[in-house]
Amino acid sequence: MKSTVPKIVPRSEHRISRGQIAPAALTVLYTLKRNRYLAFLAGGSVRDLLIGRKPKDFDVVTDATPERVKKLFRRCRLVGRRFRLCHVLFANDLIEVATFRSSFVPDVGETAVAAADAEVAGVKRSGKLPRVMAREGMIVRDNEYGTPAEDAVRRDFTINALFYDIRDFSVIDHVGGLDDLRRGIIRSIGDPHIRFVEDPVRMLRAVRFAALLGFDIDPACRSAIQCHHQRLAMANSHRLYDEWLKVTGSGALTDMGNALLEAELLCVILPDFARWLTAAKDGRRRRFVMACRRLDEWRRRNNAPVPSDLMFAIMMGEYFEELIAAKTAQGMPWFPAALQTVGKTLAPDALPMTVPRSVSQNVARLMAVQNRFRPEYRGGHHRRFREQTVFAPALEVFRFLCEAGKRPPEWLNAWDDAGSRDALTSGRETPKTRSRRRPRRRRPRGKKTAPVA
Ligand code: ATP
Ligand code: MG
Repeated sequence: MKSTVPKIVPRSEHRISRGQIAPAALTVLYTLKRNRYLAFLAGGSVRDLLIGRKPKDFDVVTDATPERVKKLFRRCRLVGRRFRLCHVLFANDLIEVATFRSSFVPDVGETAVAAADAEVAGVKRSGKLPRVMAREGMIVRDNEYGTPAEDAVRRDFTINALFYDIRDFSVIDHVGGLDDLRRGIIRSIGDPHIRFVEDPVRMLRAVRFAALLGFDIDPACRSAIQCHHQRLAMANSHRLYDEWLKVTGSGALTDMGNALLEAELLCVILPDFARWLTAAKDGRRRRFVMACRRLDEWRRRNNAPVPSDLMFAIMMGEYFEELIAAKTAQGMPWFPAALQTVGKTLAPDALPMTVPRSVSQNVARLMAVQNRFRPEYRGGHHRRFREQTVFAPALEVFRFLCEAGKRPPEWLNAWDDAGSRDALTSGRETPKTRSRRRPRRRRPRGKKTAPVA
């Protein structure tokens, strides 16, 4: 889609005021402007401000090159190998500044870059075009500066391509994003078949934004997702995990969970789990939605993203337990069976996304201790278990399993929840289980220690 004449909405006709913009972002915008560069607020922040939501972060785009941006700010570092971005650091904030680019380059980590470079190897470049297509139309390298209009059209959805111009506080729309924002539509910029093949992660983003904002996905995008959903498995596994965390930490997971199942994206991201979810009509799907709701509640209560280990353990707990039970039925004790099951299920070769090892190990621990909530484990075990740092998040998982009807609810009564709240409100990943205190050595009978003089 090429739009040459942008729609410009003056300050008097939109609702964005500078009071809603983070001071750090304003400083960046004004510094660039003072130095005669173009400086726009871009992406999700403009979208959110226009519909009265609080933006998660503020991204700036400019015509200054990263090197020039770096010279303007004392605390600024260049990041990204393929397309350089600037991170301008403030006491409590970080503002990402990008130079207008002609097409999209996801900002991924070093591993992803190496993977992409490997994909590129052997792919013939056509002339001087920086864009490299590999693996059936997927963009794996792309690094050219561009104009504001080019920068707008390389973005994913029309509602994400609006600019706020600090010169006159106007909103600039190159792609019809304002109309779509007004109508509540997620529409791909350009042909969704091409855009989703170029970067399959966009399909997941479409579903995320639709659920988050309560918008509809336009029919062309919908049918493109139907066509290409399997390609999500070809996305860079680290980026896919990052996007997955945005989905699960969004606070709108209840709607997204359903939407991901319906759009058949969950069956690509977590294939075995999604297959299990839909294999039997015994309420699994309903309990999955319950789990999503629980995670949303957790987020609201703590005003922080749900730790990823707790997210996996609550969302997939019932599934893990079934697999663990199959192992224990063959004589394997619960604890190693849990470690093995979770380790295998979340291993990099089992999923198209890379779940960090530290996360899968924590999930494994949360599942491994679920057995200790059984009545037969009370007594001394009970007290020692409570002292462990894994206890509080594990109790949260156990509580969910009780509520979902997978445990007798009276088992829960024996465990008061005072401890759980403190640890869970920290919002951090579950710390490693503290090793058990060594039992005090008994004095041999009959022997008495000599009295201290
Ligand atoms: P959020 O509120 O979740 O941060 P966002 O729209 O700001 O939403 P980001 O992931 O922060 O999403 O991306 C910032 C902007 O970069 C987007 O608004 C969009 O314009 C662009 N963008 C991000 N990912 C893609 C992509 N895969 N393809 C094209 N453009 C993208
Ligand atoms: Mg953002």
